[in-house]
Amino acid sequence: MIEYESLTRSNASFMAELEQAAVRVIRSGWYVLGQEVAAFETEFAQFVGAKHCIGVANGLDALILSINALDLPHGSEILVASNTYIATILAIVRAGHKPVLVEPDLETFNMDPACLPAALTSNARAICVTHLFGKSCRMDAICAFAKEHGLKLVEDCAQSHGAKLSGQMTGTFGDAGCFSFYPTKNLGAIGDAGAVVTNDDALADRLRHTRNYGSKQKYVNEYVGVNSRLDEMQAALLRVKLRHLGEMTQHKRALAEIYFDHLPGWLALPRRRDDEYDVFHIFGVRHARRDELREGLLERGVKTEIHYPIPPHKQKAMKGILTGDWPLADELHATELSLPISVGHSGEDIRQVCEILHQFDG
Ligand SMILES: *Cc1c(COP(=O)(O)O)cnc(C)c1O
Repeated sequence: MIEYESLTRSNASFMAELEQAAVRVIRSGWYVLGQEVAAFETEFAQFVGAKHCIGVANGLDALILSINALDLPHGSEILVASNTYIATILAIVRAGHKPVLVEPDLETFNMDPACLPAALTSNARAICVTHLFGKSCRMDAICAFAKEHGLKLVEDCAQSHGAKLSGQMTGTFGDAGCFSFYPTKNLGAIGDAGAVVTNDDALADRLRHTRNYGSKQKYVNEYVGVNSRLDEMQAALLRVKLRHLGEMTQHKRALAEIYFDHLPGWLALPRRRDDEYDVFHIFGVRHARRDELREGLLERGVKTEIHYPIPPHKQKAMKGILTGDWPLADELHATELSLPISVGHSGEDIRQVCEILHQFDG
C-alpha cells in the first residue's frame, strides 16, 4: 500500500534529533515563551527573510491575530479565494470582517488576479491570499492591485513554507505572512504550532503581546489579547525540522518532477512557470471522473486525498456568510485529486503511482 502520508515515515530520519530536543526541553524546566521560542523565531525570520517572526499556537490564530492587528473598521470586506481552505475564511469572520470571494485560476488553484476588480467595493480594506498547495500566488499583480486601491495584504502561507515568486519568499509580500506548522505541513511540528512573519515593527510589537493576553509587562494589559503562545517543546522540535527544510523541499520537488515526467497526458497537471519556485505541499491534479479514479487507485493500493471535497460557500457553517455562485470553486472541488507526495515517499513509490495511472483509459 502506498499511503497518502505517513508521519512516522516522514519524520523517521529526524527521530534521534527530535528526541534529543524533547529531552532538552523537558529537563530545562521552562516550557512556555523561553529561549527555544526566541531562537526559533530568529531562525524562521531569517529563513523567510523577514524582520520579525512571532510564534503562535496554530495557523488559524496566526491569521486571526494578524487580521485583528491591521485595525480595520469592524465589518470591513476582505477579498479571499473562493477555493481556499476554510481556515482563511474563518479567520476573517473571527476577526469581525466580511469575506468576499474571488475565483481561482483553474490551472494553478490560486486566486486569479484578473477576478479582483469585480470583487472590489468601497468597503474593501484588505486582501487575504492563500498560496495554495505550495505555489505562490501571482503577487506581482496582486500587490499592484492592493497598492492601487489602498488595501492591506495578509498572506496565508500555511502550505507554502519556502515557496517563492521571482526569488522572493511567500510571506514577505504583504503586511503579514501567516504560517501553520500542523504536523502534515511542509514544516510540521509534533502537534499544533504557527507563526506570523512581518517587516512592520509596530505590527510585530502588537502581535508579540496579543498572543500573550495583550500584556507587555506581566499583569499589565495593553490590548484585548488571547492565549495563543507557541510552546518551548514545539519550538525546539521545529528548530530541528527547520534545519532540514531545504532537503525536505528538494525531495518533494524531485518527486513532483517524476510526476511531471511520467503522468499520463489525460490528467490535468498543475501549471508551472519559470519564475515560480513551488514547494508542492500538495500535488493536485484534475480529472472529470475524479471519484472513479480515486476508487481505482485505492483498489490498486494507492491512497489519495481531495483538497477539498466541499467548497467554502457550500459549507453549512457559512450559511448567511458566503452567498452567491462560485462555479470555478465548484469545478475545482469536483475534479481535484491529491496524489501522494511527502518526505516519506521514495521516487520508486511515485513511479509506481504513475505506472498504475497508466493502466486507466483516461
Ligand atoms: C492548515 C491550514 C491553515 C490552518 O492551520 P492550523 O495550524 O491547522 O490552524 C490555514 N490555512 C491553510 C491554507 C491551511 O492549509
